[in-house]
Amino acid sequence: MGHVVGLRCRECGRAYPAEALHVCEFCFGPLEVAYDREGIRASVTRETIAAGPASMWRYADLLPVSAKSPVDLGTGMTPLILADRLAAELGLRQVWVKDDTRNPTGSFKDRVVGVALTKARELGFKTAACASTGNLANSVAAHAARAGMESFVFVPHDLEAVKLITTAVFGGNLVAVDGSYDDVNRLCAELASEFPSWAFVNVNIRPYYAEGSKTLAFEVAEQLGWQLPDHVVVPIASGSQLTKVDKGFRELVDFGLVEARDGVRISGAQAEGCTPVATALAEGSDHVRPVKPSGIAKSLAIGNPADGWYALEAVRRSGGAIAAVTDAEIIEGIRLLARTEGVFAETAGGVTVATLAKLASAGVIRPDERVVVYVTGNGLKTVEALADSVGPSATIPPTLQAVAGLIDAEGHMKAVKR
Ligand SMILES: [Zn+2]
Repeated sequence: MGHVVGLRCRECGRAYPAEALHVCEFCFGPLEVAYDREGIRASVTRETIAAGPASMWRYADLLPVSAKSPVDLGTGMTPLILADRLAAELGLRQVWVKDDTRNPTGSFKDRVVGVALTKARELGFKTAACASTGNLANSVAAHAARAGMESFVFVPHDLEAVKLITTAVFGGNLVAVDGSYDDVNRLCAELASEFPSWAFVNVNIRPYYAEGSKTLAFEVAEQLGWQLPDHVVVPIASGSQLTKVDKGFRELVDFGLVEARDGVRISGAQAEGCTPVATALAEGSDHVRPVKPSGIAKSLAIGNPADGWYALEAVRRSGGAIAAVTDAEIIEGIRLLARTEGVFAETAGGVTVATLAKLASAGVIRPDERVVVYVTGNGLKTVEALADSVGPSATIPPTLQAVAGLIDAEGHMKAVKR
């Protein structure tokens, strides 16, 4: 908290105090946290960070909250896995998987919610709220329970059953809305004005919340020995995560924590059922046109992405690309990651891995690049998506004879019908 100087409008630059504000009252631009960059340069080093906890809170000096009493379930410092078998399949030299399935509630949302609720508590809020496609719902409900706050979580009614149960179990208020995520989000924007005593993590607390995603960049750089990757692939829903990964890498250079060199290329991943940012990039447009989402990647199903334009700008500026992948490619992406690296991703991770494969095969990701792919949610959250494509290799009676019918002389499975 010591390094925050306030909020600043991303569009007109007007300054605001560090309170529960998110929109500029002059130009309606989004507000962003502003830091005392000189103060950070003078006091934050690789050593001060390394001396911190083995969690995302080691970067508290670069976040808009105090690390003294965070609302924390043990988030961050998730594994960065050298994915040689995946790289070989894709004809790439060096691929790393940032395995954010390992966070406390199984997704990267624990990063943003940890920051949001820590800040909300500092500001005196007693109630946490959000609009969610599922992962955020899990995380807000769990962190609110941990903090002893009441919670109101609003979700589209047709979410995966697992995501409803794994939210409701934490004992807060879970409200299923008969509408799309964009409907839920619009409702929550209205509710945020009706109930100013609620901390809506992705509405009135959004400037702080969004900063939590920078830790995805900080950790990767530190885990690579304080070096930047050449190219990263990040899923796009609201676009906030991609924007903040880009910002995180640029801050590390700005603060003197990594060597400046060619910037990190940032590529985005979307599903065919929801491609507002991919379409704008493909058309060379500056306008991110809203769409009506469909398909299995529900956690990315935001048809009117709040930070879509900023994500587009980051991809363009950094020389990245955005691919859109089909539901079949998403399933294949989940299975490819699982069978090569032993990591089980939710559908959003399937989108990201399928995008990695597509951009590699198109030559957009070059074979000599050091690539990091962000896998941001656990496969157990979206098992329904795989119900028709994986299952037992065979179902047999409990006899040696039955097994003998399956296995050849070398001990391998014979080709059997499933
Ligand atoms: Zn403004």
